[in-house]
Amino acid sequence: MQVHLDRVRCQGHGRCYVLAPAVFESDDDGYGIVVSTLAVNSEILPDLHDAARKGAANCPEDAITLTEG
Ligand code: SF4
Repeated sequence: MQVHLDRVRCQGHGRCYVLAPAVFESDDDGYGIVVSTLAVNSEILPDLHDAARKGAANCPEDAITLTEG
């Protein structure tokens, strides 16, 4: 699974990094980013798939896209 966070859509509500801190974190301005250790190729380990889905499902801006496969 790959995770992409659209920085244009993100409004900094913070729900992703509150609900799924293993996958998402806050930048210095409170906007969501993918955890830096995952950011090289955005590939999420299987153990984190549920957390990634939880963050994506709770983003009110639909800023998080998951690509299964
Ligand atoms: S929940 Fe969505 S809008 Fe809020 S910080 Fe995360 S990506 Fe941005």
